[in-house]
Amino acid sequence: MGSITFDHVYKYYKGEARPSVNDFHLEVADGEFLVLVGPSGCGKSTTLRMLAGLEEVSQGEIHIDGKFMNYVSPKNRDIAMVFQNYALYPNLSVYENMSLGLQLHKVAKHEIELRVNRAAKMLEISHVLSKKPGQLSGGQKQRVALGRALVREPQVFLMDEPLSNLDAKLRTQTRMEISKLHSQLKTTMVYVTHDQTEAMTMGTRIVVMKQGDIQQVAPPQQLYDEPANLFVAGFIGSPQMNFIEGAIVSIDGEYYFENKRMRLIIPERYRPYIAGATSNLRQVIMGVRPEAVHCEAWALERYPDWQVNAAIEMREQMGSDTYLYAACGEGLITCRTEALTGIRPGDSVPIVIRMDKVHFFDGESGISLTKQGEHAS
Ligand code: ADP
Ligand code: MG
Repeated sequence: MGSITFDHVYKYYKGEARPSVNDFHLEVADGEFLVLVGPSGCGKSTTLRMLAGLEEVSQGEIHIDGKFMNYVSPKNRDIAMVFQNYALYPNLSVYENMSLGLQLHKVAKHEIELRVNRAAKMLEISHVLSKKPGQLSGGQKQRVALGRALVREPQVFLMDEPLSNLDAKLRTQTRMEISKLHSQLKTTMVYVTHDQTEAMTMGTRIVVMKQGDIQQVAPPQQLYDEPANLFVAGFIGSPQMNFIEGAIVSIDGEYYFENKRMRLIIPERYRPYIAGATSNLRQVIMGVRPEAVHCEAWALERYPDWQVNAAIEMREQMGSDTYLYAACGEGLITCRTEALTGIRPGDSVPIVIRMDKVHFFDGESGISLTKQGEHAS
């Protein structure tokens, strides 16, 4: 069915110094919801467009369902694509917009009727089938665009930032609807977004890209818990992971993370990965997520060895919780705490850095020391 293989795929655009897609190599299983995520310009759309046949592959091979696709035209690839701008025909009704592709493929009239009505029901747009796109809200338009893809009953759905034109509330709602569609249809989906929240909530597997390169491929939770490098660690998660520069030192058989402001003992379990990094010359970056930085009394009592003095500079109240920004050497450390915390800007307080939850990255390459350890063994 809808399995996909990218076999060392490259895209060189004329006049660009570096490949826009660089050695993209990945197997996508039938039924996966794969999300490509990364900042603007990292090559997501180009990758998707090569898969769709809208852009030539410069080097490497693309296979869908085991068939070599490089020279197959888009309409013969058994895919359907949804774009950010809905690209609906303004003079045609919703029904006609949804059925046009099927008519062109010479599908029988009663079959067209069946599929359009079924898709309209799934997307809850049955009541607008006779309307023109101009009479619809943005959310309805996007659902018509989804419906038009749905009726094709393709092997693979491709979506390029389909929610970008919707306001925040509709975006969340449509995000859930697309996830629901996927769990009902179980068709392979490849979904492009620059939004890490969309990636985390929708993908069964996520590909993080930067400047044409794949940074990491993993299911959402694994990406969050075990980022392969600084870039992924910083890109996935909101508020962002804190990064603190320092060195790993060994004193009397114990390991510590140390810089001018702190010396914190590192738990045993990190030992296999950090033992090679102990040198004052070797800079490391310690990463700690805002939810692993505490300022509450219970934490100070429970983790006396992991305290650092900090000056609170800013406070953001989110309703469900509050973010405190604490100065502690260079840069600010974000601490996610309870909504009603009494701590205010101007306060000097001890904070706890949960050393059992930190990440260590090589100061030069940015690669996670955990990952380096895996490669070395
Ligand atoms: P994304 O979708 O991740 O924002 P794109 O795939 O659109 O990124 O673009 C990746 C890179 O390829 C960018 O540097 C962009 O400038 C370049 N690029 C995209 N399309 C073209 C094109 N038609 N001609 C030349 N360069 C292009
Ligand atoms: Mg794009």
